[in-house]
Amino acid sequence: MTSLFRLCKANEETLYCICQQGEYGLMVGCDRSECRHEWFHLQCVGLKRKPPEEVWFCPECKLQQ
Ligand SMILES: [Zn+2]
Ligand SMILES: [Zn+2]
Repeated sequence: MTSLFRLCKANEETLYCICQQGEYGLMVGCDRSECRHEWFHLQCVGLKRKPPEEVWFCPECKLQQ
């Protein structure tokens, strides 16, 4: 009876990042708990590799601080 609902959920892709795309490549997580996106593609936030800092904030959250 919930087959339609489950079908919709299966097709629903979680969107991340400021670009609102699915997950691909290397992702970096924002450490601000209220972050709108939480996960970002490295290239979208201007990074070439994982940031060396253990705590990382995305550009949006950096502006909030
Ligand atoms: Zn992105
Ligand atoms: Zn953030």
